[in-house]
Amino acid sequence: MKWLGGIAALALVLVTPVAIAQPAGELAAARQVLGQLQGRSFSENREYCGYIGRLDDGSFMATEVTRGGTDSCLSRGDESRFLEITASFHTHAGFDTEADSEVPSTSDVEGDLSEGVNGYVATPGGRLWFIDGRTGVATQLCGLGCMGQDPRFIAGDAGPIAQRYTLQELRARESSW
Ligand SMILES: [Zn+2]
Repeated sequence: MKWLGGIAALALVLVTPVAIAQPAGELAAARQVLGQLQGRSFSENREYCGYIGRLDDGSFMATEVTRGGTDSCLSRGDESRFLEITASFHTHAGFDTEADSEVPSTSDVEGDLSEGVNGYVATPGGRLWFIDGRTGVATQLCGLGCMGQDPRFIAGDAGPIAQRYTLQELRARESSW
């Protein structure tokens, strides 16, 4: 036990200083667009999604948003104005006791990794997640209620939610769900 504890403490020391590869403008654009979408996403129980890109003046902006299904969303926004697409974003629709929607799904992470973009996910509980498009690590940028909250949301219903998940940890969580 002592040995395992030592390993865990060492791992924590090693991972803590790793900076999140995320430009401030990208985060600001994601926060703004997701904040505007949460209410609709809850009341219609639909995901909304899109992309964020960098313009030639260096600023970041979001595409038009696309309304998806209850657990999927394929962006139809126009990305042609961007110099570079840097991130995807989506909401997780309304609260559903049958869905593990307080964390990003493995397909969320796999999608961002395969496209080489970061990802931002807002949940029914009001959490905001950042998916690093290079490592696939998902980090909670802010916790319960920081992005609004579905009035039907029941805190704790999906079990404990960590601050950070690797893709492997999300796979393990999904297979035990
Ligand atoms: Zn998702």
